[in-house]
Amino acid sequence: EKIFSGFSKTRDNLAVIDELFLYWNLSDTDRVLDELEEVLLVSDFGPRITIKIVESLRDDIYGGKLKSGGEIKAALKKSVLDLLTNKGLKTELQLGFRKPAVIMIVGVNGGGKTTSLGKLSNRLKKQGAKILMAAGDTFRAAASDQLEIWAERTGCEIVVAEKENVKASSVISQAVKKGKEQAYDIVLCDTSGRLHTNYSLMEELVACKKAVSKVVNGAPNEILLVLDGTTGLNMLPQAREFNEVVGVTGLILTKLDGSARGGCVVSVVDELSIPVKFVGVGEGVEDLQPFDAEAFVNAVFP
Ligand code: GDP
Repeated sequence: EKIFSGFSKTRDNLAVIDELFLYWNLSDTDRVLDELEEVLLVSDFGPRITIKIVESLRDDIYGGKLKSGGEIKAALKKSVLDLLTNKGLKTELQLGFRKPAVIMIVGVNGGGKTTSLGKLSNRLKKQGAKILMAAGDTFRAAASDQLEIWAERTGCEIVVAEKENVKASSVISQAVKKGKEQAYDIVLCDTSGRLHTNYSLMEELVACKKAVSKVVNGAPNEILLVLDGTTGLNMLPQAREFNEVVGVTGLILTKLDGSARGGCVVSVVDELSIPVKFVGVGEGVEDLQPFDAEAFVNAVFP
């Protein structure tokens, strides 16, 4: 699975790079690099990375290392790929050998948590895993219903709260116990994402994490933070807070299908040093792709 689809607007944005370098000559360098800077910024690569990339190209052009438009384009792609890969971050899920493995999905409401959980369960089930879902978003009434639909759609079992006002941590605890007793491979836990009572949300997430630890005698294997790709760089402070409180092991960036802000994939990795593990490129069951840096770079750059 090396081909990325769904980044069409980002690709459209970056398509201009082809033309920029096609007609490049040395005397034109500053103008061309200004335009490149502009394009990278509107695609949400972020100011830090944009400047790093552009200045390094400028040095290599004036230093005589890059002698043609083609060479500059290749160097640009390589520098983005380096940014994504040189931190040694593992983009594959790390599920270990303990059964059940536990994945907690966290993030603010509306970002695509429940949808991503559904898509992820489909993907893991297809790989042969026996999956149990835990409807841990007990705060938003519709969330359990929505997850039940996903359970049905993907043919997975689900544990939901039996009555109102049940704590998220107790639903998750119940699910992980069931997962252990009935030999499930993976328990996928949804969590709440209400923002207006932020403080208790974070406490609740810590409680959910502890509930898992108590049953399986260890931390969740993965705590995946779902971030709405259309919010671009605004997602960063939020991501930092989640990471400080629960320790995020990977990111799922959603809604990159319609967005021209695909560069935010690069800026969040650079800022947070947390790997992007999946990207969401649509609302369908197949629209979650494992993140592959090289395929991404080849998909978005001309
Ligand atoms: P939650 O509140 O974080 O659980 O968010 P939901 O899973 O309910 O998703 C919020 C909305 O975003 C829904 O309408 C989803 O269909 C939509 N959504 C989620 N992921 C994607 C994606 O990758 N692409 C698109 N286009 N829409 C998405």
